[in-house]
Amino acid sequence: MFADKETFKRAFVTKLETLCGKQFEESTTRDHYYVLGHMVREHISRHWIATNERNRAQRRKQVYYLSIEFLLGRLLGSNLLNLGVRPVVEEGLRELGIRLEDVEECEADAGLGNGGLGRLAACFLDSLATLNLPGHGQGIRYKHGLFDQKIVDGYQVELPEQWLRHGNVWEVRKEELAVEVRFWGRVEVSEQNGRLLFRHVDSENVMAVPYDMPVVGYGTDTVNTLRLWSAEPAKTFPLHKDVMQYKRETEAISEFLYPDDTHDEGKILRLKQQYFLVAASLGSIVQAHRRQHGDLRRLHEYVAIHVNDTHPVLAIPELMRILLDEEGMSWEEAWHITTHTVAYTNHTTLSEALEKWPIHLFRPLLPRIYMIVEEINERFCRELWERYPGDWGRIEQMAIIAHGMVKMAHLAIAGSHSVNGVAKLHTDILKQREMRLFYEWAPHKFNNKTNGVTHRRWLLKANPELSALITDTIGPRWIHEPEMLMELAPHASDPAFQGALAAVKRQRKAKLAARIYEKTGILVDESSIFDVQVKRLHAYKRQLLNVLHIMHLYNRLKEDSHFSIYPHTFIFGAKASPGYYYAKRIIKLIHAVAEKVNNDKRVHDQLKVIFLENYRVSLAEEIIPAADVSEQISTASKEASGTGNMKFMMNGALTLGTLDGANVEIAEAVGNENMFLFGLTAEEVLNYYEHGGYRAHEYYHHDKRIKQVVDQLVNGFFPDAGDYFEPIYDSLLTQNDEYFVLRDFAAYAEAHERVEDAYRDPARWWRMSAVNIAHSGYFASDRTIAEYAVDIWGISPSM
Ligand SMILES: *Cc1c(COP(=O)(O)O)cnc(C)c1O
Repeated sequence: MFADKETFKRAFVTKLETLCGKQFEESTTRDHYYVLGHMVREHISRHWIATNERNRAQRRKQVYYLSIEFLLGRLLGSNLLNLGVRPVVEEGLRELGIRLEDVEECEADAGLGNGGLGRLAACFLDSLATLNLPGHGQGIRYKHGLFDQKIVDGYQVELPEQWLRHGNVWEVRKEELAVEVRFWGRVEVSEQNGRLLFRHVDSENVMAVPYDMPVVGYGTDTVNTLRLWSAEPAKTFPLHKDVMQYKRETEAISEFLYPDDTHDEGKILRLKQQYFLVAASLGSIVQAHRRQHGDLRRLHEYVAIHVNDTHPVLAIPELMRILLDEEGMSWEEAWHITTHTVAYTNHTTLSEALEKWPIHLFRPLLPRIYMIVEEINERFCRELWERYPGDWGRIEQMAIIAHGMVKMAHLAIAGSHSVNGVAKLHTDILKQREMRLFYEWAPHKFNNKTNGVTHRRWLLKANPELSALITDTIGPRWIHEPEMLMELAPHASDPAFQGALAAVKRQRKAKLAARIYEKTGILVDESSIFDVQVKRLHAYKRQLLNVLHIMHLYNRLKEDSHFSIYPHTFIFGAKASPGYYYAKRIIKLIHAVAEKVNNDKRVHDQLKVIFLENYRVSLAEEIIPAADVSEQISTASKEASGTGNMKFMMNGALTLGTLDGANVEIAEAVGNENMFLFGLTAEEVLNYYEHGGYRAHEYYHHDKRIKQVVDQLVNGFFPDAGDYFEPIYDSLLTQNDEYFVLRDFAAYAEAHERVEDAYRDPARWWRMSAVNIAHSGYFASDRTIAEYAVDIWGISPSM
């Protein structure tokens, strides 16, 4: 079908006629997408079946990566690329008068995630398959992914996302593998042969129906599975309940992605989603294992279950329930198997994001699971009591159930054999501060796995121009072995290479400029510095620091006719969680500043501010290759890792950032002289939090630049905004600037001056850029996944 151009063209036209029931001449771009998608899936199917066959025959250990989010983005382009058929398809379509790029744009992003956490899961799937590792994802098939963002008068408006509107060519519904999930009801206890039996009765059941999506590795026959669960009414409707209400409540479970992963709003539906994912996943894992191995006594030798953050942590009590109630194992045996099967990744130290569930919600919804969590807690506390006799304070702080709450991170640590952070700094903070007591209790469980991103999507696919230059310079081995990018290092000072690198960047900037014009009607200077901050809108990520600095530049340009800057285009993209009003005010502020700056003739040729709406994976793929400067300016200690930073680095952007998350390791890799670092360190921030001593007022009063921009938030400088920015003003002064925006302002402004100096020296800039690309191989998720495979999962490549 994809053997050569002519075969492909014939197959495409025939397929189009059979699938769409029309002649080629009448077909639309959507038809082309649909047909090509089907052809690709058909092509994948053979390898998919073979991979599953091989896994069964070889009885190899399988990894299941449980995640409440998978932020996949579009799949057609990456599947074509991974299958190695992209050139044939592109050529063939061109001869039929079709642009592959247009076809790709027909695909809706699979946006089943909020940001970094969900995108990490998607990158991991790509690396697992490419490394021929038997690793599969399990998640929820939300009918609506993360909301679509519209900007109206500078304000964010959320629209329901509809990625399934035109169907999904990548999925296969597997109704025969449906799993029943039980909620509510009560537990009946009886005794038989001296053993207690537990029966969950009067439950309200939900049918979890799997939709499988193939995960194709690059240049390999391995096709793994992403299984997404959809909630449907069970065959037996509950008798006591209104049918329509039951149907509504059931379908609601897989209707919407929970809109934020850092602010926990504590809704029962969220807990339902979590247990739904876990019970369905374990149901299918256990079913497959029983078929192959008979019973579950050696489950941990054949299965590794990874829980991505605490959302799927109920996998621990659910596995206990299966082993105890269904298999009749002793508690000790069940606990041994469970803790040797499950591993946990922590993604945050923000305490407001550490999940806890009130018992009064948890117990009625999941009565048997709650009993098991209680038992886990009792045994855990008893163990602690033996270890730390009399130390009530410590036990209280470590308990899984305390003060009417179930603490999910504590359950995760107690019930798994591995706890990892996602960057060195983050893991150190977990060990020394946030989870110190747990680290003292079980230091062997703790380890670090610095995040990575798949360089195949974020470099090879997103930036074919740069990829071609790299391959021309060092050959193609970097595609399979990203650490080979290091071979670019000797070329970093070569004027010819630098010129080519600059030309690629120019090309991508022109392309993005055209896109910006198409979307906003604003013409930006293609030779200006493209300074980019794209990521979720969050106070700790400090988009505010960026905006206040732009306001300062604007003020200076207006007031001082001798002052000039190298032309800058500041580009933002960010969604704010719908209930996060502070973040929404920042979005409005960015637009207010853009409105002022972009319409002011005085600064016209030096400053532009662009906000691109509806930031998502496919938009990121357009923006990142065009960036000169990557803004990674979180309050130190707050960003667990960041992965945006890695995508930019790979594409030759230079990082303007704090020593936070993986920025620290990027700096170790490239050297401080190849980045623009500024601001408080994590140590200093944590010291302030512990000992106080920061007074935002002093920075406001002593730095005229700061006073001016902060005052402008409330003094009528933005006439249409009224008092809308007052809460931002208050957060900085009345609430003493929790994220140290004013504290870091001067250092940030100075770092911007260093950026400009470097940019004015092209030989220096492009050398720095090349050095960053050369050292980015370490931040490929292939490296991360290889580490998980060896250190945590104990799995090895097949074939
Ligand atoms: C990579 C990515 C993120 C994470 O970015 P950070 O800068 O690490 O927060 C969020 N959203 C999308 C669409 C991404 O591709």
